[in-house]
Amino acid sequence: MLVETCLLCDRKRLGAFRLCRYHEIASDKIREAYTVWQEGYGDFSWRNYLKKVLSLPETGQWALDVAKLELSDLDGTEESGR
Ligand SMILES: [Zn+2]
Repeated sequence: MLVETCLLCDRKRLGAFRLCRYHEIASDKIREAYTVWQEGYGDFSWRNYLKKVLSLPETGQWALDVAKLELSDLDGTEESGR
């Protein structure tokens, strides 16, 4: 039987999501913070925002994992998609 684990760790996935609950929570927080950033900084791309998250010393380990994953998703889709 295939055990569906989080893409970022060995924990079980949360329902239909591809991440465990901890990484899903971190992912939600990153997306929420992005909307706040856009209000404050205007035209700030998702990619640049993720790079910013990775560079901030206060970014937690869960959020770092998620930001790296999102960035690698971008690199995988944008090159073939355009
Ligand atoms: Zn996880």
